[in-house]
Amino acid sequence: MSTYKIAVMEGDGIGPEIVAETVKVLQAAQRKVDGLKLELAELPVGLAAYERYGSTLPSSTVEALKTCDGGILGPVTTHVYNVHDESMVNPSGKLRTELDLYANLRPARNFPGVNTRFENVDMLIVRENTEGMYADRNLHEGNGEFMPDPDTVVSLRVVSRRKSERLARVGFELARARRKSVAVVHKKNVLRRGCGLFVDCCSMVAEEYPDVAVSDFHVDAFAMFMVQHPEKFDVIVTTNMFGDILSDLAAGLVGGLGLAPGLNLGDRFLLAQATHGSAPDIAGKNIANPIAEILSVQMMLEMLGIRNKDGRALEAAGRIKTAVEKTLEQGVRTPDLGGTATTSEFGDVVASHV
Ligand code: NAD
Repeated sequence: MSTYKIAVMEGDGIGPEIVAETVKVLQAAQRKVDGLKLELAELPVGLAAYERYGSTLPSSTVEALKTCDGGILGPVTTHVYNVHDESMVNPSGKLRTELDLYANLRPARNFPGVNTRFENVDMLIVRENTEGMYADRNLHEGNGEFMPDPDTVVSLRVVSRRKSERLARVGFELARARRKSVAVVHKKNVLRRGCGLFVDCCSMVAEEYPDVAVSDFHVDAFAMFMVQHPEKFDVIVTTNMFGDILSDLAAGLVGGLGLAPGLNLGDRFLLAQATHGSAPDIAGKNIANPIAEILSVQMMLEMLGIRNKDGRALEAAGRIKTAVEKTLEQGVRTPDLGGTATTSEFGDVVASHV
């Protein structure tokens, strides 16, 4: 018997809609794979948690997560969180540091039945997730943005040897199971010390992987190369903010954010979380594309399968992946991909294919 305890956190905006379909698909996989037992535990985060418990990330949620193997997190509408209210933390950023989810894996690839300008795209962005230019995760305590006077803001960017090295190791390890090529993306011509240290760490780790080809690019030029020849890139290892921006660009190359899954990876906890935000413009209309969230969970199951040498988790992941592809192939699509299916109709078809 393979038993995993999985937390379910809906989040804000389209979060409840896409997480519901993801759970539907996950439960279908559980029914289909003999001996796979998923204990799902709903935990509050986001604006609903604030209304009910006075915090967008109640401490009870964080404590409960520490007893889980993985979690599903819907997106959160952080731009409306009051910066002066300490109870309105960004659950996404806080969980990444609190649970040490140090690598954010964001794949972008072509899907059957989704026509785009590019073919043969299959890249994986491996983004540092716990420091960098993100003010809510680059200090042990407090926030890395300061206002010395009302007209000046200082934002700190943190790059450390330990976190850069372990991130690079994830990238090279994953590259070994793919096309054996890593692109290190940085801006060390200007951020000479921070990006310089990051690149040095990646080069050092690269020596442990002589079978993996390595190249490096300045992020600005890389953005152009990505759009000119996205099919050339395999694994992209980069710092927090560059990875965040480039992964939305990558999503745009293959059909949009509705197709962009993500996995936050720690040594003992995995958090499935789509790349996109809470899409307030379409929230509550049952038209959001649930693929990104569904495939985030598929990535989580696959990683659980690899880490635990568990064929059942791998089978569930494989079934979900194939089911999404079959659904797209038969022309069922949400409006962002030019279709007319609702979020829940799309989830029903994927679950039936599982
Ligand atoms: P967004 O990703 O929410 O939306 C950008 C565009 O993509 C919108 O037009 C939206 O409708 C569309 N889109 C996104 N996901 C989609 C889906 N699944 N199906 C169909 N269309 C989809 O980015 P934004 O508008 O910049 O941010 C909205 C809110 O989300 C903000 O509060 C932001 O802070 C927050 N945010 C949260 C996360 C997270 O929780 N991980 C990530 C990014 C942004």
